[in-house]
Amino acid sequence: MSRYMRACFDGLEAYVPGEQPQDRSYVKLNTNESPFPPAPAVLAAVDAEVKNLHLYPDPEGRVLREKLAEQYGVRPENVFLANGSDELLSFAFLAFCGRERPVAFPNISYGFYPVYASLYQVPYTEIPLREGFVLAAEDYCGLNRNIVLANPNAPTGRAIPARDIEEIVRANPDHVVLIDEAYIDFGGESCLPLIHRYDNLLVCQTFSKFRSLAGGRLGYALASQGLIGDLEKIKYSTNSYNVNRLTLAAAAATLDSGGYYEENGKKIQENRAYTTQELAGLGFETLPSVTNFIFTRCPAVEGEALYQALKSKGVLVRHWNKPEIADWCRVTIGTREQMDLFLDKVREIVKEAG
Ligand code: PMP
Repeated sequence: MSRYMRACFDGLEAYVPGEQPQDRSYVKLNTNESPFPPAPAVLAAVDAEVKNLHLYPDPEGRVLREKLAEQYGVRPENVFLANGSDELLSFAFLAFCGRERPVAFPNISYGFYPVYASLYQVPYTEIPLREGFVLAAEDYCGLNRNIVLANPNAPTGRAIPARDIEEIVRANPDHVVLIDEAYIDFGGESCLPLIHRYDNLLVCQTFSKFRSLAGGRLGYALASQGLIGDLEKIKYSTNSYNVNRLTLAAAAATLDSGGYYEENGKKIQENRAYTTQELAGLGFETLPSVTNFIFTRCPAVEGEALYQALKSKGVLVRHWNKPEIADWCRVTIGTREQMDLFLDKVREIVKEAG
């Protein structure tokens, strides 16, 4: 830190994104990207848009908002666009959380939540998950604070039933309940229909996972007009052109290529079942996942050692040193070939350990 930075950031621990080492080529199963490239129509749409890069993008992103609204059966006023859902989360924390409006989230969840809370100096409570990393809705009722939940949760991959989400939203009418549905399209049940009944529900989704557009950076919120208006106010006070032209064009073309992404999603689900089964044969315990990753542990090799051994064999997975999950590794589901390579390396490691 230089002597110019504000002292309030002394203790801020920044988010650490999944590593992107350049020392050799790796099979990257550590950041939950899609292994599949964008649809051909997306490449064409981006190509056609490049010539317009001398002009600012539409700050309202009208074309894309209308398309998303149509797809989800809402009005464009219920849709907000952001530079990845990370930016969306940042805006939401800034808009709705503060010293007088504390926030709660599970103790095991997306690592950015405590970072945003610290950045914006919001008091936060981490609610322990129950046995098996299961979230109990009753733990979130009557908390008297805003609530942020990833559904499905990350890094566990577990789903929260929509009726539990409704119970939590209903029990906290004076607080915002943000549901981060980054991985919803891989098998979870979205709580989106509830936005018509609950004006305190903010649903956040992304193009980074199911829609193969992590590099384009596009997240969006679906919510009551009131909450969307609040996010707009923050955006126009931060960066009015937060989503660039190429991304707007890519995202619109993505929505026109739905079938391509559905097919890819099916392959991920098949590869998830296959990988889980093969790991079970090696004695691994894997949590039931409705995402494009699995959370798994090996009885013979502890989490950090498995992560290191895989890395030395050219496969990147994610491991956290947090005591509650130190035994576990999170593995992104890639192509069948990638998963076979991962499994081969795992078999070698288990053999070496035995
Ligand atoms: N939420 C969760 C639960 C995530 O795992 C991620 C991906 N790291 C994000 C949000 C952010 O995704 P993006 O900014 O790429 O939309």
